[in-house]
Amino acid sequence: MTFAKKTKRFKKKKDKRMKKNTKQEIIRLFDFAQIVSKHDLQLAREIIFIARKLAMKTRSPLPRRVKRTFCRKCNTPYSTKTVRIRIGVHHPQITYACKICGHTKRFPYHSKKRTR
Ligand SMILES: [Zn+2]
Repeated sequence: MTFAKKTKRFKKKKDKRMKKNTKQEIIRLFDFAQIVSKHDLQLAREIIFIARKLAMKTRSPLPRRVKRTFCRKCNTPYSTKTVRIRIGVHHPQITYACKICGHTKRFPYHSKKRTR
């Protein structure tokens, strides 16, 4: 009983550490893609594809700061040339429209509710 408990705890700890490493790896890849995208968009797309595959393989969610930096359909990193951002007037949402494939993604915002 006690042995089983110990191994379980150990496994959990190990998993957590692994996820932390992959998170850093994913963030690093996305940062690299942002830098590369100024010169070579296709290469940046491939880097983002690899980073997303890594997240899927390890079943770790994409970090919060990374989520809104690329198009989910064509993997293009967002910059002033590749995205159009609109803030909703009647609905509390921000719309990201990709200029390359036309894919739109909406994120809600709550200016009063959020305290963070
Ligand atoms: Zn796109």
